[in-house]
Amino acid sequence: MGFPVGSLVAAPLRRLGAAGRRGWRRFRQQARRLLPQAVLLMYHRVADVRVDPWDLAVSPTHFAEHMALLRETYEVWPLTAYADRLRAGRPPHRAVVLTFDDGYIDNLTTAAPILEAEGLPATFFVPTGLLGHDTSFWWDALADCILHRRSLPAPLSLHDPGAPTEAPLRLSPPPPHDRDGRKRLYKRLWTLLSQRTPSHRAELLDQLCDATGTARTAPPSRRIMTASEVATLYQKPGMDLGAHAASHTPLRTLSPPAQRDELQQATRCLQALTGTAVPGLSYPNGAYNTATLKIADECGFKHACTTVGGAATWNTNPLTLPRLHVRNICASVLDEQLSRLLP
Ligand SMILES: [Zn+2]
Repeated sequence: MGFPVGSLVAAPLRRLGAAGRRGWRRFRQQARRLLPQAVLLMYHRVADVRVDPWDLAVSPTHFAEHMALLRETYEVWPLTAYADRLRAGRPPHRAVVLTFDDGYIDNLTTAAPILEAEGLPATFFVPTGLLGHDTSFWWDALADCILHRRSLPAPLSLHDPGAPTEAPLRLSPPPPHDRDGRKRLYKRLWTLLSQRTPSHRAELLDQLCDATGTARTAPPSRRIMTASEVATLYQKPGMDLGAHAASHTPLRTLSPPAQRDELQQATRCLQALTGTAVPGLSYPNGAYNTATLKIADECGFKHACTTVGGAATWNTNPLTLPRLHVRNICASVLDEQLSRLLP
């Protein structure tokens, strides 16, 4: 929690007038430069992809440029070392931390070799209950159904098992050339599916796959790592693992006992893979509540990452670390973003 300095100085500043306010702003800018700041970068995939509705993929070319920039210009810290210093009240100044969510295979085959070549550490958060599954993540399967198909059946009629009424959900897909219409339909269905239980979501996805002739199996380049591949990744110098819950269900949507079950499953699996207690967690979809924080602490997690943007400061709660979502941008744009966050 920060100190409410603004409210303490607001009245005196009003009396000082414009010059006083300018002086206060300059003072604040100077003070920020002296305070420890860190940016945790959030990557998902390192791959060339054609359709990417959530900007989860960074091309290998851009990723290599990002890593070269970070090695040359910034101080990259392992997440655990950074979080240890933060908890001890001595966070490093202008640190950058690399994290990956979801456990896509390209983390091992494409990102890790580039990280190793640059000598940079990174933490990979994996949904332990999904390791080795050959089906796509539900949001990828939905994109396959809606964004990758040339034409869609019209109307698209679905039975939504989680709906309050029995009436079928009838959707009118836009024509093939209406790309924005397709994206709107994808986002509408994404919102619907994200609100359903895992079993209801799977039922809806099966109907969508059947109706559109889409395979539920992930293509080899987009599958989730197996447990042994995750262990291989962990053996590489500088590569660390963290939990991304077990089933990738947003924890906030679960009861406290179900949240505890998710986190305990994840800790047991990662302990078996690494031989040690894993201190880091990333909340699926960045979703947590006050119960999650208590349960994460009780399950032994020392630090946890959210999807809230911005820099971490000296008084950031280690269980709610912000992260910068890195999109498929060139290194100069990333440099600008980092320069703004790390004055
Ligand atoms: Zn995730």
